[in-house]
Amino acid sequence: MVHRTISKVAFIGTGIMGSAIAGRILDAGYALSVSTRTPEKAKDLVERGATWAESVAEAVSDADVVFTMVGYPEDVEDVYLSSRGVLACAKKGAWLIDLTTSSPELARDIHGAAEIEGLHAFDCPVTGGQSGALAGTLTLIIGAFEADLPGELLELLSCFSAKKCFFGHAGAGQSAKLCNQVSLASCMVGYADALALAGQAGLDVGAVLDLMGSGTGGSGASTALGPKSVAGDYAPGFLSEHLRKDIGLALAHSEEFGLSMPGAETAYALFDLLCQIGGSRLGTQAITLLYADEAEGAAAGLDWSLAQQLDECEGEGCHCDHHHDGDGCCGHHQH
Ligand code: NAP
Repeated sequence: MVHRTISKVAFIGTGIMGSAIAGRILDAGYALSVSTRTPEKAKDLVERGATWAESVAEAVSDADVVFTMVGYPEDVEDVYLSSRGVLACAKKGAWLIDLTTSSPELARDIHGAAEIEGLHAFDCPVTGGQSGALAGTLTLIIGAFEADLPGELLELLSCFSAKKCFFGHAGAGQSAKLCNQVSLASCMVGYADALALAGQAGLDVGAVLDLMGSGTGGSGASTALGPKSVAGDYAPGFLSEHLRKDIGLALAHSEEFGLSMPGAETAYALFDLLCQIGGSRLGTQAITLLYADEAEGAAAGLDWSLAQQLDECEGEGCHCDHHHDGDGCCGHHQH
């Protein structure tokens, strides 16, 4: 065991990204306690030496640093602000770092509430995907000033990142991450449009993707995910429902400034449709299935009849704000 002032680390939320990041922290020699909603998802980490905690409270009570990597802003709120959450149970002086892609406003609220409790919280969403998390090459998008973070904390962050971008104040990390997601969203739609056109024009789709990658028409998204779309590999590195969440957060953020983002609006509509017809838990590269024939979509688990049910639902005046995930109507209304 390496001796450091920061020795005990807690990690909440060991899904696709969290388990990979927590693994890097473990490998770097920190004592790690883990807690997550589905215990099975922490099994590998526990076998590698992490300590399982039954609750958030138990995981964080003696930790010097707490990382959270959950799914949605509501999960972040629950983990930090509930009566047995991180703010109530972490030890004084602990550093609390939220890696989830979440709302800038919530990040500011948590930062402020933590200060009152004698804790230090900042937002630190990441980019680089599951492969970057496994390789320890993520880019960190940090809602704090570098000068305000102790050297040992920066060292800890370095065990799963290759680059740190500092945006100064609480919430600014989330704001910058949402800018990244807005660009990603249009890149996804761009390459899906291009591959659909290539297919219809009778071209070798893989060759078109290759051509795009050698010029300015390609993107990080088309390079990393285009080959998976072409190969029909829709296993999630990044869940479609999470990109829909991110674009929704970005659109809400843009409304604060009266800014219209037509590219993001189009991408939101497409990812929302993908989620509603059963694609929530597919990787974002499954967006190309929206252009494919129905049989190909069905083979990947999509059900286009749900889209028709949705249309009928809307036709009958269902103007609710609930998501219609996979089951046609939201079920909150009688039609
Ligand atoms: P994920 O696999 O769904 O992981 C999230 C984990 O958090 C799940 O295991 C979930 O439990 C757990 N969780 C949710 N609420 C919890 C709570 N209240 N208490 C304890 N555990 C809780 O998703 P992911 O791909 O790792 O993504 C996590 C976050 O990172 C998302 O905000 C995503 O947008 C962002 N992100 C993802 C990527 C990527 O490439 N995957 C890249 C950058 C950023 P269950 O297993 O029970 O659902």
